[in-house]
Amino acid sequence: MIKERILIVEDEDSIAELIAFNLKKNGYETFRVDSGERAFELLNDGEKFDLILLDLMLAGMDGLDFCKKLRQVKEYANIPVIMLTARSEESDVVSGLEFGANDYITKPFSPRILIARIRAQLRKATQTEDSTSQNSIEYAGIILNRDFHEVSIGKNQLTLTANEFSILDLFMSSPGRVFSRDAIIVALHGDGYPVTDRAIDVSIVNLRKKLADKASLIETVRGVGYKMKKLA
Ligand code: CA
Repeated sequence: MIKERILIVEDEDSIAELIAFNLKKNGYETFRVDSGERAFELLNDGEKFDLILLDLMLAGMDGLDFCKKLRQVKEYANIPVIMLTARSEESDVVSGLEFGANDYITKPFSPRILIARIRAQLRKATQTEDSTSQNSIEYAGIILNRDFHEVSIGKNQLTLTANEFSILDLFMSSPGRVFSRDAIIVALHGDGYPVTDRAIDVSIVNLRKKLADKASLIETVRGVGYKMKKLA
């Protein structure tokens, strides 16, 4: 079994050691750094982590800055982050969560709580793998990410035009629902935008081509419009 890798970003040696000890005991592989800068070095070197334990008060880049920066980088944006804060820093917790931390633990904490929180985050991360962003939806093996304007099927990234993307987004958001061409036009551009029915048809044709073996998911409803096939 592959051990899950946890990065501990903590500048207090005794705390970092205690955490590492408990994580190892519970079967995790641990890595320790004492600054956000160093953590980024590891990430940029290509090290992969399943979760980051992040001390809020760090010399140099603090935990909030780190979190903010982390979330701006696409490859790291989905790594769960649990912040470690002192009780007196609890007001910062709100900012931490706003900056993209998934959870926080107040020091001093019991190893049992720590492990439970880590497990919860790792479980969540596995459940939503590849679609961790709230702005990402998955249907029938197609993953559509609105933040990055990306669509992928398995390892294949599709290159879609803005219209194709919006149509797919619309369909994937309501499988089974039939959309008339007019409804699609309205959804795409708001009322009154000069897009013709014909343009929608062309977008659908191209979208189906790009979806390759998933093309049949987009069904034509004769005399009405189109819909995303609802899977049983
Ligand atoms: Ca500290």
